Amino acid sequence: MPDTDPSGGTNQTPHLAVSPDGTPAPGRLYTLPARCGIALRLRAGQQLRILNPSGHQVCDFWAFAAEDLSEHLSMAHLHTSLGSVFPRPGDALVSGLRRPLMTLTEDSSPGVHDTVVASCDPARYRDLGCAGYHDNCADNLRMALAAIGLQAPRVPAPFNIWMNVPIGADGSVHFAPPVSAPGDHVTLRAETPVIAVMSACPQDMTPVNGAGVAPDMLQFQVPV
Ligand SMILES: [Zn+2]
Repeated sequence: MPDTDPSGGTNQTPHLAVSPDGTPAPGRLYTLPARCGIALRLRAGQQLRILNPSGHQVCDFWAFAAEDLSEHLSMAHLHTSLGSVFPRPGDALVSGLRRPLMTLTEDSSPGVHDTVVASCDPARYRDLGCAGYHDNCADNLRMALAAIGLQAPRVPAPFNIWMNVPIGADGSVHFAPPVSAPGDHVTLRAETPVIAVMSACPQDMTPVNGAGVAPDMLQFQVPV
């Protein structure tokens, strides 16, 4: 089962859970360290605000139905429901069953996010020429879920918040620095009980987390 092996992780993700089952303290501002991931358990109606203090840090994001992790956000189904690759405030984020799991309620950034490319993973870094282990979003997802006692059934296509992957008229895709600004935030509301997972993407071999800067931390909060 090569898709469920978190053992390569060398960062703090296994120790970052906000509580044993991932239930966050409403109102508390949490920090997600650079290169790490974390999983949260949200009730229907709760909101999750993700903050980008540096402005150049991408957040790979997933949401799973809490009662059945085999149902999760599907970017391919999202494209159909939105008629777009860019979710906007007010847009529902749907699962592979076309059920809204979350709604994007706020976005202070210009709204340039990626819903097309896969998370970084060990094979991606090998392809980029990295010889040793490199922190990666796929392992962050696996480790973040394991930290609250859950197992990732797979690594779904992520909602890459603030990632700038322009799609050319000829269908080409490019990896470009984010256009978000320091202090930008997005807010998502759970429409059903969900397990939400964030990864502060550790990609430092392409400019998706900013050109000439190191991957940075993110913050998050479940407003009271
Ligand atoms: Zn990544």
